[in-house]
Amino acid sequence: MNDIVVAKFGGSSLADSQQFIKVERIIKSDPKRRYIIPSAPGKRNKKDHKVTDLLYMCQQLAAHDLNFDEVYNIVKSRYIEICEGLNLDFNIIEILDDIREKIRLGASKDYAASRGEYLNGLILSHYIGYEFIDAAELILFDKSGKFDAKNTYEKVQSKLANVSQAVIPGFYGIMPNGEIKTFPRGGSDITGSIIARGVGAQLYENWTDVSGFLMADPRIVKNPRPIEKITYKELRELSYMGASVLHEEAIFPTKEVGIPIAIKNTNAPDDAGTMILSDISPVEYTGTITGIAGKKDFTVISIEKTFMGSDKSFFRKLMTIMETNNISVEHMPSSIDSISLIVSASELNSKLDKVVEEIRIYCEPDSIICYPNMALVAVVGRGMINTKGIAAKIFAALAKDGVNIRMITQGSSELNIIVGIENKDFENAIKAIYEAF
Ligand code: ADP
Ligand code: ASP
Ligand code: MG
Repeated sequence: MNDIVVAKFGGSSLADSQQFIKVERIIKSDPKRRYIIPSAPGKRNKKDHKVTDLLYMCQQLAAHDLNFDEVYNIVKSRYIEICEGLNLDFNIIEILDDIREKIRLGASKDYAASRGEYLNGLILSHYIGYEFIDAAELILFDKSGKFDAKNTYEKVQSKLANVSQAVIPGFYGIMPNGEIKTFPRGGSDITGSIIARGVGAQLYENWTDVSGFLMADPRIVKNPRPIEKITYKELRELSYMGASVLHEEAIFPTKEVGIPIAIKNTNAPDDAGTMILSDISPVEYTGTITGIAGKKDFTVISIEKTFMGSDKSFFRKLMTIMETNNISVEHMPSSIDSISLIVSASELNSKLDKVVEEIRIYCEPDSIICYPNMALVAVVGRGMINTKGIAAKIFAALAKDGVNIRMITQGSSELNIIVGIENKDFENAIKAIYEAF
């Protein structure tokens, strides 16, 4: 590990010229911040638009041969405000017009969306005086569109070895045929993690609009407490279950080589934020929970069959049905004579009737009942394993608030307890558990 910090700034951190000024101050206050990963301009307020969303819209309209000037002009005005607000002597309009023309001529969805970070990267590099390196020169995907880790890390190492400071746009890379390809939404977090890994950074900083990873979603719980330290494993559970601060795939590149991640607030840079660490010694087991997260819109397929366990082919048949219908199963709590398949409603789409019919035919159950509109809430904590009474406290809190628990599972790592409840109880359940701890 060397003296390098990779710093990624999210959309709200770079939403307008005033935010760029804050970002410059942060970067310049520590010379170790050598590689900077910007997102596209995000929302300046609740009703505002993300530039990425607008670019997707432009591409959609263009693909239908519809005029997209009205939408593109909003994108244009966002970048012009930033350049003017920073007094930049840089002709962004020419580049914006060139991109508009490419979209008009049928550029791909990924290309259009990627221009949000590309333009923000160009502006930031001019403003702070760091070299601009296009992500298309570093981040590689294979021809099937899968991230090509090996070749990317080699590229990053060789290209950046002689570049002491650079701005590299987040969110996208290139395929062998020269086409631009993006990561999933929120993917600038992934770019930052990959660059940190590639240069062997001592720290990956993820600058956003909250003072760290909070114990619960701040849109549900008012002023939740920030988490000071969290392990990669806990974070993975929370991100997977919907805590959207850091993209769930952003954890892997840095985790594999033990680079810590700091979540920091661009609007309050002195706040401690959250440190994500691979190994926290057992003495730091807190004896309480670390965080709460959850997701809505699951369907539970509940199957009963007496002596299910002694029917040796039962589980294989059940799983084959899910596999052939291309449905991933989120959880599978079971008891002696019953099993529940918890599936995200978007996975099931219109396949539910077919799947139920196939289970009837091949598995010959005593009964099948489906419960739609279910939500899952995960309570996560490395300290839960050696602490008595955590589960009791969760269930008591939910009961007190009148939330009906339809299902409970505990991961074998004992890092989490997951409760299944109805969608309508989702927000209340998270509030109730947070209050209890
Ligand atoms: P960025 O644009 O910087 O990438 P994101 O919007 O992707 O930021 O992520 C930060 C947002 O995540 C916060 O503004 C907050 O609304 C949301 N969020 C959801 N769950 C949590 C949580 N547990 N802790 C902190 N923020 C959370
Ligand atoms: N701008 C992209 C998005 O809105 C990527 C990111 O912000 O991380 O999804
Ligand atoms: Mg994000």
